[in-house]
Amino acid sequence: MSRPHAVVTGGAGFLGSHLVDTLLDDGYHVTSLDNYGSGRPENLVHVESDRFESLEHDVRDPLPDFDRVDEVYHMASRASPEDFESHAVEIALTNSEGTRNAIECALDHDATVLLASTSEVYGDPEVHPQHEDYNGSVNVRGPRTPYDESKRFGEALAVAYDQQYEVDVRTVRIFNTYGPRMRPDDGRVIPNFLSQALHGDDLTVYGDGTQTRSFCYVDDLIGGIRAVATADRSAAAGEVFNVGNTDEMEIRELAEVVLDVVDTESGITHEPLPEDDPQVRRPDISKITAEFDWEPAVPLREGLSRTVADYRELL
Ligand code: NAD
Ligand code: UDP
Repeated sequence: MSRPHAVVTGGAGFLGSHLVDTLLDDGYHVTSLDNYGSGRPENLVHVESDRFESLEHDVRDPLPDFDRVDEVYHMASRASPEDFESHAVEIALTNSEGTRNAIECALDHDATVLLASTSEVYGDPEVHPQHEDYNGSVNVRGPRTPYDESKRFGEALAVAYDQQYEVDVRTVRIFNTYGPRMRPDDGRVIPNFLSQALHGDDLTVYGDGTQTRSFCYVDDLIGGIRAVATADRSAAAGEVFNVGNTDEMEIRELAEVVLDVVDTESGITHEPLPEDDPQVRRPDISKITAEFDWEPAVPLREGLSRTVADYRELL
């Protein structure tokens, strides 16, 4: 194997499958490891490369033996708030034991790790926008705790392996990202709104819809991940970078945009706001922009149109 070998945990998921495509385009041998909990083998059926293998594997177990590994992309973890309670233990262990196993694989092979963390480490933030230096405001005993705190512990493991073994772990805190291949029944807001609009059902806005998010199109996000993963060790090892789009909007405004883009007769209904739902969220991306000249380029309406085209085929 003369080409670099990348292992992508969660490779059959939304972000993981797009990352697999990009790594193959960039000439890597790629192995996807996935337990197909929230991911789908269909996300990878289009891949025809002989440089690709897809293994059913749960990262709570040690990673398989490989002859060579150059880069580990640890993307595995359910990410929909709808799963945070029903799959709480699985999530907590995937982001702790699973992260340990991903880093141990890198330690064995002297490889780098790209750790997929999340804006959820900031909780319901009291500082806005969120810069990497902000330590967050997470409820340590609530419905989001198993996800939020296990992601924070995953970051702590990255620090620990860096301090004790000098493993090169690069952490990205991913902010709300959407695009083709997100499961229509995933439960997150854009899959929900698009599925509802395409079925002619009312869009379910939780609470009064004044809570905000900042939505990033998947191609932009993968570009940010690759910028961090391929940077010189001196610029990225042991570092954490926010990755996301800075265009912040209220959820009720997102609903209006979706109705317009899908061009449907659907209306809007309101449902109760889930407990601990963050009121605001917007990344400060000045660090990744300054270091790697990365910033998102795809506007929301364009990204939604591309996602609608994918959903029309799926549904
Ligand atoms: P996803 O659910 O589509 O993908 C996650 C993948 O991980 C799935 O294929 C799932 O089957 C797999 N997986 C879960 N637990 C596993 C386990 N124990 N062993 C093996 N495979 C397992 O979600 P996504 O949106 O693609 O998220 C990917 C990563 O990015 C996650 O770590 C998530 O926390 C992080 N993230 C995503 C977003 C976003 O907006 N999409 C935001 C913040 C963080
Ligand atoms: N939301 C909504 N309707 C839905 C799904 C979600 O109004 O059908 C809201 C949710 O309450 C949150 C925002 O949309 O304020 C984003 O939710 P999502 O589950 O996508 O991810 P989060 O950012 O909360 O992790």
